[in-house]
Parts: sequence; C-alpha cells; structure tokens
Amino acid sequence: MTAAETRTWSLNEPVRDDYLVFGRPQLLDAEIDEMMATLRSGWIGTGPKVARFQEAFRSYTGAGHAVAVSSCTAALHLAMIAIGIEPGDEVIVPSMTFAATANVVVHAGGRPVLADVRRDTMCLDPDDTARRITSRTRAIIPVHFAGRCCEMNALMELARHHDLKVIEDCAHAIETLDGERHAGTIGDIGAFSFYVTKNVVTGEGGMVTTANQQWAGRIRTLALHGMSADAWKRFSDQGFKQYEIVEAGFKYNLTDMQAALGIHQLARVEENLLRRRAIWARYDAAFADLPVFLPAPEQAGTRHARHLYTPLLDIERLRADRDEVQMALHRQRIGTGVHYRAVHLNPFYRDKYGYARGDLPAAEWISDRTLSLPMSPALSDQDVDDVIFATRRTLEHFAK
Ligand SMILES: *Cc1c(COP(=O)(O)O)cnc(C)c1O
Repeated sequence: MTAAETRTWSLNEPVRDDYLVFGRPQLLDAEIDEMMATLRSGWIGTGPKVARFQEAFRSYTGAGHAVAVSSCTAALHLAMIAIGIEPGDEVIVPSMTFAATANVVVHAGGRPVLADVRRDTMCLDPDDTARRITSRTRAIIPVHFAGRCCEMNALMELARHHDLKVIEDCAHAIETLDGERHAGTIGDIGAFSFYVTKNVVTGEGGMVTTANQQWAGRIRTLALHGMSADAWKRFSDQGFKQYEIVEAGFKYNLTDMQAALGIHQLARVEENLLRRRAIWARYDAAFADLPVFLPAPEQAGTRHARHLYTPLLDIERLRADRDEVQMALHRQRIGTGVHYRAVHLNPFYRDKYGYARGDLPAAEWISDRTLSLPMSPALSDQDVDDVIFATRRTLEHFAK
C-alpha cells in the first residue's frame, strides 16, 4: 500500500466496538426508580410529580412562575400566544437556531424575521437585530446558543426602546447565568427543553418561566385544552372536578412519568456541569493545533451551560467539507451532530420569505463549518479518548 492508501484505510477503521451515539442521556437509578414508582402508583398523567418538578425548576432558576409543558416548541408557541402575536406581526429570530424557534412564529400567524448572529458566540447580533426592527416588530427570540448567554443587556435595551417583548429560547441554557440571573428570567418569558439530547432529559418535555402571573395562568390553561384551573385534578381521589373550556387550547401538558425523570435529572445538573467542563477542557487542549476554530471562551460575568461543543472546521485548510468529515467520523463509530443548518437556507424559509444565500453571512459561515462532538456527562473517559483520537486522525488526514 502507498502512504496515502494506508491513511485512507485507517480512516475507515472503527475506533471502538459499539457506536458512540451523539447526545446519549445519563439515566441513573434515582430517576429510573422514580419512574417505576410512578407506574406502580397508577397515576401516570399530569399530577403531583409535574407539580413537584415545576416547583423545583422555578426554585432552581429563581423564576416567578414555571409551567411544565410537553416540549420547548410548545413553550415557545404558547409564549407567542401569551404575548399576543397576531397575523402580520414580526418576530426577530436568529437564523442560527433549531427551526422550531422560527416555526412557532409561523404557528402563531406571525412573520419570522431572521437575523444574523455573531461568528464567535453564535448568538443573536444586537446590531443586526436593531437593523431589522420595523413598525410591525413585536418581539425578539434570542437563543442562548450551546449554553452561552446572549448579550442580554444590549438586547433588553433595544427591546425596551422599541416596546418589544423578549422570549428567551433556553433549550441549551438550563444552567446558563448572566451575573446572578438565570437564563429565562432576564427577558419576559423563558422556554426550556428536556428533549433526549438536552442537559435535563424527560424524553420529551419543556418548561415556561415568567414573572408575569397572568401569562403563567393563561399558558397553564392553554397547555391543557383551555380548561379552567387545575383541570388535571378532575379524576383525582378528591372526586371528579367540573371544568369549563375558557379558550380553544392545546394538548401540551407534561406527564408524571416525564416529571419523574426530570426531578432527578434537575437535581444532578450542577454536578454534571463540572463533568461537562472537564470534557470541554480536554477537547480544547486536544484540538488546539488542528484546522478548526475552537468555541469562544466563556464571557466574563456569565456562566456557559456547555450543552454543545461546536468547533468550526477551517474548511479552507481542509480537503473535505463538513459533511465528509462527519461521515468519516461516523465510519469510525463516532456519532456527531450539526447545530445547525441556518434556518434561512431551508426550503420553507427560502421559498416562503424569499431568503437566499448571502443574506445572513455569519449564520451561513457557521452553517457550513459547524460540527458538534459528543458532550454528555454519560461519556466515560474512554469515550472522550475515542472522540479525540478519531477527530484528530480525521482532521490530520484531510489537512491540506
Ligand atoms: C431542542 C431545541 C428546541 C426545541 O425543543 P423541543 O423540546 O424538542 O421542542 C428549540 N430551540 C432550540 C435552540 C433547541 O435546541
């Protein structure tokens, strides 16, 4: 074999026996036992465990109110309704996010106006946001990307000046702090996710946080068909409760089975952050000399939740694009993610709102280069070694 052939051959050789799934959750006995107890109790729907999880989350974040819902998408959708988004209203959303952040604006009848992010932080750029404000703008949805706090002072100032609401997409940001304040308590409403890959996992699940009691009450009602207060108790041992439909609501409630997981996941989130930081530091040290741009350091005065580790491939110095690098890692049995393809490059947004490549340069720059490596407290030291070995081998192979 020639030297080149040897290198190609080694690149297809798995670095481990089992496939390292991206975003594997850490599920331990505490939540498994609680889940079993929930099943045995016979009350598996929305009930006392949801109430306990809500209160634990409210207390953890310091929010005035916390309302558990079935997903972060549901949380964002209900937030749009609570703040009164109506047809014709514009909501500014970063293009570097999961599509759900923009989709919910469409669901509420509004128009998502995609804005650019900063190349280094990947968070909404306040200057670009300011340029996109019109007389129809009603709200901004900053996304605390990968767990990094957005520039909330600048965004809040902008919002107050133009009388806009701020809905924080905290899907990555359960542990995120800006000074003493938790993400999700800085703007008007926070929306959190407990999807399988997130830092707290309930299978599917979400939470709304807000200081506004009226919105919290309306969101609680809208999340369960629009039924009058405490409708979930209607079949409890306190006897059948009559209810009324006060609004055409949704089926967005969390269940006690899910909350059983969430209660114990949340209790471990601070301890897990230490493990996430240690993995992060090992990746930073291992990849410093490779053709990649490492994630920017944590901003002073903030706390990064270390949800995603997203180096950007320096594709000008590689003989492969991001998808080829990702495929090579897959063949070595390392699962990775892409967070994200810029929203405006997706056919629906491109065709319906007329976006094109070139419109949001920083989001596109990230979109073409970003690769998310496994980042979870469920990773063993050997798992981390395998990721480092495969990533180094792959990028050295493709380096120009
Ligand atoms: C995961 C995610 C969502 C959606 O969360 P679900 O709980 O799956 O609905 C929204 N925004 C961002 C940034 C996300 O990463």
